[in-house]
Amino acid sequence: MSAERTQVGIVGAGPAGLVLSHLLALEGIESVVLEARSREYVEHRVRAGVLEHGTVELLREAGVGERLQREGLVHHGLELRFGGAGHRIVLSDLTDGRTITVYGQQEVVKDLIAARLDAGGDLRFEASAVSVHGLDSERPAIRFTHDGAERDLRCDVIAGCDGFHGICRDAIPAGVLAAYEREYPFAWLGILAEVAPSAEELIYCHHDRGFALHSMRSPKLTRLYLQCEPDEDLDAWPDERIWEELQTRLATDDGFRLGSGPIVEKGITPMRSFVVEPLQHARLYLAGDAAHIVPPTGAKGLNLAVADVRVLGEALAAWYRSGATELLQAYSDTCLRRVWRVQHFSWWMTQMLHRFAGDDPFEARLQRSQLAYVTSSRAAATTLAENYVGLARV
Ligand SMILES: Cc1cc2nc3c(=O)[nH]c(=O)nc-3n(C[C@H](O)[C@H](O)[C@H](O)COP(=O)(O)OP(=O)(O)OC[C@H]3O[C@@H](n4cnc5c(N)ncnc54)[C@H](O)[C@@H]3O)c2cc1C
Repeated sequence: MSAERTQVGIVGAGPAGLVLSHLLALEGIESVVLEARSREYVEHRVRAGVLEHGTVELLREAGVGERLQREGLVHHGLELRFGGAGHRIVLSDLTDGRTITVYGQQEVVKDLIAARLDAGGDLRFEASAVSVHGLDSERPAIRFTHDGAERDLRCDVIAGCDGFHGICRDAIPAGVLAAYEREYPFAWLGILAEVAPSAEELIYCHHDRGFALHSMRSPKLTRLYLQCEPDEDLDAWPDERIWEELQTRLATDDGFRLGSGPIVEKGITPMRSFVVEPLQHARLYLAGDAAHIVPPTGAKGLNLAVADVRVLGEALAAWYRSGATELLQAYSDTCLRRVWRVQHFSWWMTQMLHRFAGDDPFEARLQRSQLAYVTSSRAAATTLAENYVGLARV
């Protein structure tokens, strides 16, 4: 087994791992990023696409926002649609001018990979049999196989940025982490279609047949979602059925028409809320989906991953600069404040907009009342808006 050495070993080249590696490099801190999948795969994995104001600022200030600023679609508002009518929430008016930017997660990932490779960063794609060792020691290690050879990477600290199904969280000894979880009795069937968006902003739609979301990735690509069963069979959803169902749910009394086009991506996104506490054990720090999952209704997963590694990057920079450990010790508590705020917001949006099993008429009336309140009270709309664009400090 060949031995190697770096300062920060990062498992996972999703948004969390890549942003962390980039922020560390700006501070002169070396890292190696190990990714199970190929570069091609991670650069084309269609997932999130709504960037909070603070995420955009961070990427811009870190020098990886050039294409994002050129191609990203800045949105000042969103629509809540229910009872056959749309109601606009003017995000920027309610939040001192803050906005969201629509820019695909895979584009963020492409920009970060290009920036790391241009700067001579060490990214290893298709690393297999990745495992972490010696977490309690001063030289924890990541063992993995790359290019047919087994390797032992000694680090000062390890960042577990390997998503919900990664290996880092499970490497923490039993009894250290407490897990908090909620499963939802539905999922999202999502499509990406080659057609111009049918509205300029996102539409979150409450409907008796279930939730629907109209979103977009570019002026030529529309992203649409339908609430479906958690075990939904994609084969039962030929393209025509998807378009019909979307049109039915998104219909308005004034004749909204949804444009359709070739579907280039189709998938089921499960809905889950999940948090482990703390986000750290000895020299292993968890960040992003490795530590927490939110249902996508609040558009927060990617933003939360970036918020974690911003905190971790600053803490590691302070430690390497002066040996100060305060920020590292506070890492978990600092992140968890935002994590729980975002958990609540994502749960609240999910609760307000989805059809729940059993069709409880009491529940449905509460949802309608909540929607009417959010769209008629400036105070209630502000609560939605400031969480949606992202709270600056939590
Ligand atoms: C299917 C799906 C659809 C989603 N859709 C939306 C959406 O529509 N809207 C929204 O707001 N959010 C969505 N999200 C959430 C959002 O994409 C995530 O919150 C975000 O990707 C988190 O970034 P991350 O870097 O923490 O984790 P990830 O992006 O999951 O990155 C983790 C990386 O680690 C790698 N990895 C895993 N195991 C190992 C291992 N053993 N060794 C090495 N590497 C490993 C993975 O291949 C991956 O590249 C979706 C998530 C999923 C899973």
